Amino acid sequence: MAKFVSRSGQLPTTADVVIIGGGPAGASAAWALECASPGIRTVIIEHGSQLASGASNASLENFRTCWTSLGNARLMGRSIDVFRHAQDLLGADIGVKERGYLFLGFNEEQADGLRADVQRLHQIGLTHVEYLDAAELQARFPQAGPRAVAGKYDPIAGWLDSHALLHAFVRQAANCQVLLDVPETRIEVEGGRVVGVWTPSGRISTATAIIAAGARSRQVGRMAGVELPVVVRPRQSFTTPWRHADFPEHSPMLIGAAPFAHVRPEAQTGAIFGHEYNWNDKLVKADGEPAHDYLIDPIYPVEQLKDPRFPSVTLAILARQFGHADGEGFANPRYLRGIDHRINYYVFRDNAYYTDDQGARRKYVSQRAIIDAWSEVGGLYLSIAHAGHGIMSSPAAGEIMAARVLGQPLSDPAFTDFNVDAPYADYDRGGLSKD
Ligand SMILES: Cc1cc2nc3c(=O)[nH]c(=O)nc-3n(C[C@H](O)[C@H](O)[C@H](O)COP(=O)(O)OP(=O)(O)OC[C@H]3O[C@@H](n4cnc5c(N)ncnc54)[C@H](O)[C@@H]3O)c2cc1C
Repeated sequence: MAKFVSRSGQLPTTADVVIIGGGPAGASAAWALECASPGIRTVIIEHGSQLASGASNASLENFRTCWTSLGNARLMGRSIDVFRHAQDLLGADIGVKERGYLFLGFNEEQADGLRADVQRLHQIGLTHVEYLDAAELQARFPQAGPRAVAGKYDPIAGWLDSHALLHAFVRQAANCQVLLDVPETRIEVEGGRVVGVWTPSGRISTATAIIAAGARSRQVGRMAGVELPVVVRPRQSFTTPWRHADFPEHSPMLIGAAPFAHVRPEAQTGAIFGHEYNWNDKLVKADGEPAHDYLIDPIYPVEQLKDPRFPSVTLAILARQFGHADGEGFANPRYLRGIDHRINYYVFRDNAYYTDDQGARRKYVSQRAIIDAWSEVGGLYLSIAHAGHGIMSSPAAGEIMAARVLGQPLSDPAFTDFNVDAPYADYDRGGLSKD
């Protein structure tokens, strides 16, 4: 059973592995290290006053198998296996609700896109994902509404309790100590190797450090003298305490067409929403500077980046696509009462590119995390850039990290997609919008 140590408690002075960040990436690394090397002494250093103080707080806590890139498909497949057997493998109920994901198309072009996605998913072995024509969609999922003409349905998908998941990970890590409320952390490097981790309460001697600090990973890397290839993009979600009657509790998550507003039932009577909001940094930049859709260094408190219109815009998008008139369905003003609006960062790798027909390198927004050693510093490892799926991928991400740290082979060759220096993978774009 992992031990939680407060700032005033007894700090460990040595560890086999120190993990910086107690979110899904860090907690799962501690679990997987214990599974692969029972008794290994790990320390998780967490900046916040509890585990999961980062992006997972704003998350929808969803999972799905339908990823068109092979690496992510295998990563989620293995992770969902763990979720489905949580009682045996994690010793806990993590609140899995396997209710499915239903992507919707509202015209023939969108239907063709969903059909092509399903073909690709079948090619890589995900034959459980179904293409639904209008008649089948209406018969099986009336909540999709009469305007939807096609669906892509992933039955091995749903949501879970991410706090329960993270606590299960660390509880299983028998010799893990968790330090909370650590305001500052420095990885010490001597002669090109990690030799320890400094905190204001003391120093921990270690030859191995894992950076799993989410949006702050670049800053943690700088302390060790390295500049990590990641950028951050704010993303928002909101929860409502109420849900309209035609949207039943057993519904799958519904995902509309571009800009991919999505919603699922939450708790008994509520719902949780998001959409692929086109954020840019215009408001936080000096006049005249070109705008970007990302930040190199995250801004805190991140709440200042919230767009107050986000909930009403998301509802309006859904109401328009579903054809709900004023007062009906997603256009019912009750949705706007008692909203809990959240924001945090997606973290992306910033070193993905493809080579175009003229031989030029073109950067793209990759959905692949970095789970690898950082070769310039001995003993330094990274579990970063988990974008919008770091909860659903966490068990397998932890296992890849453990294999790297312990020098063991990867369980799946497709996991080399998560190497630092893997610039490209097929179908590695778009997140919700393309998969
Ligand atoms: C709106 C939104 C919706 C999302 N929906 C989903 C979803 O449905 N499914 C899904 O799988 N994912 C979802 N995600 C993404 C998911 O939350 C992230 O991918 C995941 O949380 C990343 O895990 P992480 O451990 O890398 O980072 P984080 O969760 O950010 O955790 C990093 C941890 O490190 C700590 N830390 C930071 N700096 C330091 C430091 N210097 N020292 C010590 N500790 C430090 C932080 O306090 C934090 O606890 C969503 C994210 C957002 C914002």
